[in-house]
This record gives sequence, structure tokens and C-alpha cells, in this order.
Amino acid sequence: MYDTIIIGAGASGLMSAIISVRKGEKVLLIEKMPQPALKLRITGKGRCNLTNTLPLKDFLKHCGSEPRFLYPAFTQFFHNELITFFEDLGLKTIEERGGRIFPKSGKAQDVFLAMINYLEESNCTILKQTQVTKLIIEESQIKGVETIPFETSNKELCNHERHKAIPLQKSYYANKVILAAGGESYPQTGSSGDGIRLAKQAQHSIIETCPSLVGLKLKDYNPITEYPNLIDFELHNLRAIIKDKTGKKLCEEFGDIIFRENAIEGPIILTLSRQIASLAGKEKLLLELDLKPNIEQKILDKKLLMEFDQRGKENIKTSLRAFLPYELIALAQAKCDIDFNKPTHQLSSNERKLILHFLKNCNFEIIGTLGFERAVVTQGGVNLKEINPKTLESKLTKGLYFAGEVMDLDADTGGFNLQIAFSTGYLAAQN
Ligand SMILES: Cc1cc2nc3c(=O)[nH]c(=O)nc-3n(C[C@H](O)[C@H](O)[C@H](O)COP(=O)(O)OP(=O)(O)OC[C@H]3O[C@@H](n4cnc5c(N)ncnc54)[C@H](O)[C@@H]3O)c2cc1C
Repeated sequence: MYDTIIIGAGASGLMSAIISVRKGEKVLLIEKMPQPALKLRITGKGRCNLTNTLPLKDFLKHCGSEPRFLYPAFTQFFHNELITFFEDLGLKTIEERGGRIFPKSGKAQDVFLAMINYLEESNCTILKQTQVTKLIIEESQIKGVETIPFETSNKELCNHERHKAIPLQKSYYANKVILAAGGESYPQTGSSGDGIRLAKQAQHSIIETCPSLVGLKLKDYNPITEYPNLIDFELHNLRAIIKDKTGKKLCEEFGDIIFRENAIEGPIILTLSRQIASLAGKEKLLLELDLKPNIEQKILDKKLLMEFDQRGKENIKTSLRAFLPYELIALAQAKCDIDFNKPTHQLSSNERKLILHFLKNCNFEIIGTLGFERAVVTQGGVNLKEINPKTLESKLTKGLYFAGEVMDLDADTGGFNLQIAFSTGYLAAQN
């Protein structure tokens, strides 16, 4: 019998385990994968953006469907406490542009090592390659969990028929269980939706999940065959706007994008994707790129006229280099449907308007996202209405607690998601 069982050794589960151990509890930490925290180790492109130093009020603006839910967790354990927590574990941090905090070593691996080393030196029992398949609940009180050895072939998770057939099933008992099994994004790291399924088994309702902070797939976007130079090209300082089918603006961002071979990514696309996560692929949405956001349409048209006048003998492709990087010329040609090899003086005023339109309103229809495989976070999850925000205990099952992305909590990029995981992991263990 344990005091606390924690399901999932990701960011939130590791935090819960450390706090539970510090309370003197007998702790069992169960991880499905052969190694814990596979996702934490690849965060921030391997550098791990741990948190953000924005004041609480501003921080909350970047968080979740219901930011007030996080208030009790953040008032107990916020970025200052997190930085001190890691310093106590021997991990120094540095602050970068935009208040983003990283380990000073620049290695996400060191964040993981600081936590796991602490746990391995404590009396926390860590079971790896062990998948929790069922919560044991009696009369609305958690009693423990059922597990099976995890093999990559066990794809049908929490399938009871299959479960019965596996002889190595083992149960573990505790009156407190913290469900920290993550969401559905990057399933290859172990977070493949088990947490959601286990919460459902405890009768929790689920806010429909969808990939968020993810690249967008576009209609008639064929870089491989039509404009290969564009693949992996980064474009800086532009405005991206997403509109609905009526042309109403839903959201906009200013910054950088990256053209990929099958989608468009980059910081502002990820941020926008979060705001339309539940609509992408279901409703008609348009992505509009303003490639010259600092020049008004009329002034840009005058500049085009002047430039094209001076370069009348050159072909259009060459003249356009005054306005566009080389990598974008083929896309412009495809979008404007003009022969760019003819001399610039042959360009009609209608054709010039098409080029102007490309520069100011380069439109694509969004046909979906790159999915959970490439999504940084999961939007949706366990309904927050059924969780007590002051303790993170289930309102339906006594002794069952939640931590991290399994809940209907997601945030922008910038260190917000990991702070949510760490703060909720802390609070769930605290009570
Ligand atoms: C590529 C990438 C980069 C990111 N970079 C950043 C960043 O720099 N900053 C930031 O703030 N956020 C970042 N995030 C988001 C952040 O990593 C997550 O929000 C955070 O890890 C969620 O923590 P968690 O503990 O809830 O879940 P996870 O970290 O996903 O951990 C859940 C754990 O539970 C285990 N598990 C699942 N099911 C079971 C089961 N049935 N039995 C036992 N164990 C189970 C999983 O194997 C996994 O180890 C990034 C995400 C990705 C994908």
C-alpha cells in the first residue's frame, strides 16, 4: 500500500512525486515508456523554456480556456518558486527575451536529470514501462490502479478484453492517485490519450480534444512540385490574419513564419493555431498574409509603379526582387497566375494589382492542421468544472487528483505550458 500513486512521469508527474516525497509519503510513480519524461527532454527545441517571468495577471492572459482555474495553483507555486525549486536541485537558469526562462546549460535534459536524480536518491518507487490501464474506485473513493507491462504493441490502451487476456496485470493500492498522464500531443513520447480515457472511466466529462500550437495545412499549397525553394524558408516580420468564411477577422499576429513542405509553421502560426484549434479542418477558414505590413496599400502600389517603370526592360521575376526574397517568387507567380518571364513594361495595371494583392493579402484556405503528431499541446481534456481548483481533487472521486495537460488547460508558447504542468503538479501533491 502506498500513500500516493502518480500516473505518468512527465513534467507534472515528476513535480508531484518530488513534493509528495518531501511530505514524507510513500510514493509510487508509474511511467508507461521505457524512460520517464521523454517530452520534457525535447521541449524548447532541446533547451526547455521552463517558464516566463510575466506578472501573474499578464501570465494568465496566455493560459487556458478558464485562466481563473489556475489562480490557486499559481498563487502557491509560480515562476519565482519554480526557479528557486530548480536552483535547490542544482539547476541554474537564465532569462531571455520576452521573460522566457531556460536552464543555463541550454539543455532540457538537465531539467529532467535534476528531477529524476532527486527522486532516485529518495525512497520514491519508480516503475518504468508500466501502463496504468484502470483506476480502482470503490464507492466514489480511489483505491489504486491496475497496470500491465507496456509494450509498443499495446496500442489498444485501456481495452478491458485485452487487459483480461494479459497475465502480467498487477494492481497497486493507495487512497490518493494523481493522474498526470498528459494529453494527446506527440504520442511517440507516451502521451497518447490514456489520461483522458482513465478520467472517462472515473465518469469525468471531457472537453473535446484537438491539436494546438501546430502547423496549418493549406489548400493548393504544393511546394514540393511547384516551389521547392520555399521549403523551410523563414519569413520575418509579417502579419498573419485568420478569417472565417464570411471574411470576419478571428485573430491576427505579427512576427515570423516558416514554410514547410506540407504546411506552414513558425511562431505566429503556432500562436494563431491555438485560437482556431477547434475550428481548423471543420469550418472554412482563410489565412491571409500581409507580407508588407508596414506599408499602406496605396503607397506600396506607388512604389510598385515606380520600380516597374525603372525596370521596364527586365523581366517581372527580376523586378519583383525589389519587393520579395527569391524563395517567394515562384509562389507569387503561382498565386498571381502571371507570366513572370515577360518584360516588366508588358505588365498590365490589372496584373500589377494582382501583385499588390499578393503582397498585402496573400490568401490560403486552411484545410486542417498537422495533427497531434506535431502539436505542441492538446486543447481540451478533463472538464475543469469537475475538479476543485483549490486542491485539484476530482469532485466525483475522492482521492483522485489531476495534474498537467490531461486537464482542459493549454497555453501559448513561451514557457506557459510547463509552468502549468509544474504548478498543478505541485498543488495536486500538496493536499
Ligand atoms: C516538441 C514540444 C516542445 C515543447 N516545448 C515547450 C517549452 O519549451 N515550454 C513549455 O512551456 N512547454 C513546452 N511544450 C509543452 C509541454 O511539454 C507540455 O505541456 C508538458 O510536458 C505537459 O506535461 P504533463 O506532465 O501534463 O504531460 P507529459 O509531459 O506529456 O507527461 C505525461 C507522461 O505520462 C505518461 N503516461 C501516459 N499514459 C500513461 C499510462 N497509462 N500509464 C503510465 N504512464 C502514462 C507518458 O508516457 C508521459 O511520460 C512542448 C511540447 C512539445 C511536444
